[in-house]
Amino acid sequence: MSESVIRIASIYPTLLGTYGDGGNVLALKHRAGLHGLVTDVVDVSPGEPLPRDCDLYVLGGGEDTAQVAAADSLRADGGLTQAVDRGAAVLAICAGYQLIGQEFPDATGAPSAGVGILDIRTDRLPKRAVGELLTRPDPQAPAGLTDLLTGYENHAGATHLGPDARPLAQVEFGVGNGDVSEGAISGHVMGTYLHGPCLARNPQIADVLLGWVVGELLPHIAEREVEELRAERLEFVRRSGR
Ligand code: GLN
Repeated sequence: MSESVIRIASIYPTLLGTYGDGGNVLALKHRAGLHGLVTDVVDVSPGEPLPRDCDLYVLGGGEDTAQVAAADSLRADGGLTQAVDRGAAVLAICAGYQLIGQEFPDATGAPSAGVGILDIRTDRLPKRAVGELLTRPDPQAPAGLTDLLTGYENHAGATHLGPDARPLAQVEFGVGNGDVSEGAISGHVMGTYLHGPCLARNPQIADVLLGWVVGELLPHIAEREVEELRAERLEFVRRSGR
């Protein structure tokens, strides 16, 4: 395995840090360590230039107003688009997912411009989606994603995929994109409505992201605590009327 350091940018944790999504960066560090990979994490505040040389950029969820501010700041910076163009990986959760697309609703429901690195558009669901979200990786999902994906969702957005994006998964329980699909992938950019934090509950996703960075499929390494957490969450969904 490569000796080089994987550089991870945590984008605007002060604006996009609701629902414990900061845990995704911790999970990435942890999974990288299990695979013998070294990581270096940079927290980026709004207004600070995005580091141009990171391998992996992570965005979390947030409130409507914070989301518009984050999108505006990222568009003004331009670094995320450059990073994607040179092949860097991106994981974006909920508000982060919506804002890396073409447009998403602001707090009034009016369309607001996204960063445009993922071919999705978001408008409003008829009713806010709140609760557990359980999905099955889409047949076109990256190799290495075989387990059910678990998380929770709290969003008002319905997300529509354009021809350059494919779904991450199909919904078994919950709402996701609003049309039975969940999340989206294009190249090395992945967006999802899964909070949780997503990567603590779904280490296979962390391994796919790290695998994109190192250019190889990482071997499956199971951890008892994670399997117990997943089993408990899956059982909770079954009990709540799946
Ligand atoms: N503000 C967005 C929505 O409600 C995203 C919310 C979130 O990140 N959980 O759709």
